[in-house]
Amino acid sequence: MEFEAVIGLEIHVELNCATKMFCDCPNRPGDEPNVNTCPTCLWFPGAMPRFSQEALEKACLLCLGLSAELQPRSAFDQKVYYYPDLPKGYQLSQAHLPLSRGGAIDIADEDANPKRMRIHHIHMEEDVARLVHEMEGRQPISLVDFNRAGVPLVEIVTEPDFRTPYEAMEFLKALRTQVRSVGSSECSMESGTMRVDANISIRPRGTAQMSTKVEVKNMNSVRHVGDAITYEINRQTAAVEAGEAVVLHTRLWDPDKKATLPMRAKFEGPCVPDPAVPVIELSHEWIEEMRARLPEMPGVRAERFVTQYGLTGEEAKSLSSDPAIAGYFEAVIGQGIAPRTGAHWLTTALVPAVRERRQELSSSPVTPARFAALLRMLSHDEINANAAREVLMQLFESDEAPEAIVSACGFRQVSDAAALDSLIDEVLGAQPAAVADFRDGQGKALGFLIGQVMQASGGRANPKVIRELLSRKLGAIS
Ligand SMILES: [Zn+2]
Repeated sequence: MEFEAVIGLEIHVELNCATKMFCDCPNRPGDEPNVNTCPTCLWFPGAMPRFSQEALEKACLLCLGLSAELQPRSAFDQKVYYYPDLPKGYQLSQAHLPLSRGGAIDIADEDANPKRMRIHHIHMEEDVARLVHEMEGRQPISLVDFNRAGVPLVEIVTEPDFRTPYEAMEFLKALRTQVRSVGSSECSMESGTMRVDANISIRPRGTAQMSTKVEVKNMNSVRHVGDAITYEINRQTAAVEAGEAVVLHTRLWDPDKKATLPMRAKFEGPCVPDPAVPVIELSHEWIEEMRARLPEMPGVRAERFVTQYGLTGEEAKSLSSDPAIAGYFEAVIGQGIAPRTGAHWLTTALVPAVRERRQELSSSPVTPARFAALLRMLSHDEINANAAREVLMQLFESDEAPEAIVSACGFRQVSDAAALDSLIDEVLGAQPAAVADFRDGQGKALGFLIGQVMQASGGRANPKVIRELLSRKLGAIS
């Protein structure tokens, strides 16, 4: 029997607010342990939570950015469970009345067909403390760091619309781009500001059967999510084919073993409405105010890049997926650079070079003005593409203007026919075989001869001019 997977995702996103969700402690979980604490986020009995306006705004922007419908009325519940990372015994979360319902992200599946992945709802909750397991001598100990306790989170719960690991990975990449665009979170799986749980079940292909699902946690990259889902689909398929039952439980992805392993269950109790945090009521006017604050989303920006600048869909998509790259692109073409040239050099040369150096584009020494100056020399045929690549690398090392680097290193392109003429004569004299091949109609001989002239010029000749001159000369010879 052939099986298909049914996959749903639950994504926790840490909001980049200045403070925690219910107190004024700094939202900096990475500080020295237990410095960012107060009676509220140490969860002392009687301490009153005060809900952060910034957390509400950032959570709402995130929802609107994902086309979700903000609910006029939402509220916090006490989600009861007992575990050392939650000594008060319950987490403030929205179980019954979530902040938003609906929403979707459009992706392309493996066959490049468009597919809409629906979001069921998005709710807010406070993060729990962090447990640190260490050795004290030979004694294993567990420590609790409350810096993370009360940090504002949203949880995005999808519909079980995913059928393959690929679709889940594409969704997560698009989600990350969109949340970064609205500025609510950095969404880094590596540093834990985005955490993904996957619910996976299998059923005979083409049926609507509901099967027992298994939850997988602890993936810290998009790649790991794909690997964990693949592993789990194979594991469940093998179990069903061997006549075993799949039981509801939670597993952890072990990236070293490349396997999911069962984890110990936590006690989970009921969810009861919290009496201390007031109900959140959003007016229509306030929601529209938030919507007006939304920046241009990547999909809309990509369409604009196609119509406004004449880019291909592929170019527009790759530029607009990262707001920093999109902004840089517009700054460069604002300096008079042709959009296709700017797009090509930005995505194929500058962005890879910046990544290789582990820099950020916005703080790279290659500012839009310097990059534009380089591309301007290229468009004016003052340098050729090879020289442009070399000068670009030097822009990372030196404060000099591109023009100065070109002059100092002798990169200026030789387009002067008189200067190239003698080089071409030399090459033609030295390569009688290639000249004969060309006369016999072998087109690739011309490419070879252009290469020889290029080499003779120390890489500085203008290939367009060489081609013209060579063709004319060879025509004259024959
Ligand atoms: Zn606090």
